[in-house]
Amino acid sequence: MKKNVTIFDTTLRDGEQSPGASLSSPQKLIIARELEKMKVDVIEAGFAISSPDDFKSIERISSVMKDVTVCSLARAMEKDIAAAAGALSKARHKRIHTFIATSPVHMKYKLRMSKSDVIASAVRAVKLSRQYCDEVEFSCEDATRSDKKFLCEIVEKVISAGAGIINIPDTVGYSYPEEMGKLISYLLENVKNSHKAVFSVHCHNDLGLATANSLSAVLAGARQVECTVNGLGERAGNAALEEIVMALNVRFPQMKTRVNTRAIARVSGMVSHMTGIVVQPNKAVVGANAFAHEAGIHQDGMLKKAQTYEIMRPEDVGISGTQFVLGKHSGRAALDKKLNELGFQVEKDKLNGLFTDFKKLADKKKKIYDEDIIALIEKDMGKRDGFELKNFEVHTTPSGSKGVVTLKKGGKTFTGSASGDGPVDSVLKAVETVSGREGKLTDYSVKSITVGKDAQGEVRLTAAFGKKVFAGVSSSTDIIEASILAYLSALNKLEMQKCLKKVKV
Ligand SMILES: [Zn+2]
Repeated sequence: MKKNVTIFDTTLRDGEQSPGASLSSPQKLIIARELEKMKVDVIEAGFAISSPDDFKSIERISSVMKDVTVCSLARAMEKDIAAAAGALSKARHKRIHTFIATSPVHMKYKLRMSKSDVIASAVRAVKLSRQYCDEVEFSCEDATRSDKKFLCEIVEKVISAGAGIINIPDTVGYSYPEEMGKLISYLLENVKNSHKAVFSVHCHNDLGLATANSLSAVLAGARQVECTVNGLGERAGNAALEEIVMALNVRFPQMKTRVNTRAIARVSGMVSHMTGIVVQPNKAVVGANAFAHEAGIHQDGMLKKAQTYEIMRPEDVGISGTQFVLGKHSGRAALDKKLNELGFQVEKDKLNGLFTDFKKLADKKKKIYDEDIIALIEKDMGKRDGFELKNFEVHTTPSGSKGVVTLKKGGKTFTGSASGDGPVDSVLKAVETVSGREGKLTDYSVKSITVGKDAQGEVRLTAAFGKKVFAGVSSSTDIIEASILAYLSALNKLEMQKCLKKVKV
């Protein structure tokens, strides 16, 4: 009989804690819809107490999801749990995920609590969470550096208090596969009521072992894996969803997940696009080179029989080459259908606006690809939430450039100009003059995202506003326009996220 493994996706919580990966609330909703369609089991939508933005986006995701459990993180504190419960109140299937640190170094220096205080807080938190919600997950933060006997003690007590899922995080990415497997086996054997809970792992990738550690835990009896799309997350990131799912799929047919693997490539692309974090070309499963065979001897083998050098097929993860989708003669219904296929549900008046933008783009380029449509939607989001680009002009001579930019915010338009060292520099300086926000570009790249001479140029950048760093991505057939829009998308994240507090689990 196949054993089910629950896929707990934390892209929107731990993944969003990647430096520079902040997502807006509408972007989170779009990703949540894609994750639901891809059939993950649980979506950790955020950390409700951390900011009003996080609270609202968990609330919005909760009210829309049907086929997936929505989860909020909460420290083992009353106010955190109340906030999580509030944000999840509209969810059809909900889970509160509460945690406290159990390692000596965390208890002594961070919490300044004794073992018995930690147990008492954990039990209290689980009981309180159960008053709001039938499904409660408890995490022992830094479990892999905790005393095993103490872990047994606290886990047994929180199961008795009503926790149905016990998560054993390798918070600092310190463990290795054999150790992780043994720890799970030890807990399953030595916690008296272990049969009353599902054991879970949450592995970080500091030593590049997150996927291996997670698989080892599953082989030892863990039945939930916490992971993120593209392996996003704190520091070196979390175990990558696509690696876990495909490794189980290819090597462990006795283990079963619900995930529709054919959606993997698309969701990976969408998350990369929205967070501005590029997937490395040699990344397992979703990297641009993951299925590219360069060496002559490999190509020869591939032509004779794909299995000579291929352990999974590109189509298994949904890579089938970019397909032509829409063009100049496509109507509103075709656009709406395409948007639905891409996971966007668009209200009628918004569709009209998008359709106008779509027609303008279709006049400029003949073939409109999925990526073009996603870029249009992102532009539309920028219009509602922050500074919107109304117009720009730039004059460039060998001695320098002058840029003039007009932006709109809250119904008012503002124009500013600046001189700079080249066209991009001058228009971005003009944006600074208008917005009154000084930013410093810490990274900037332009590449072509669609094919042909009329290709859209995609600009990816990161900008530091004081201590806060945000990524911005945009695309246009004009790279100066794409640069301004990418910069505005980073700036608008700053506008939207004024109070970000983040913790590690
Ligand atoms: Zn984590």
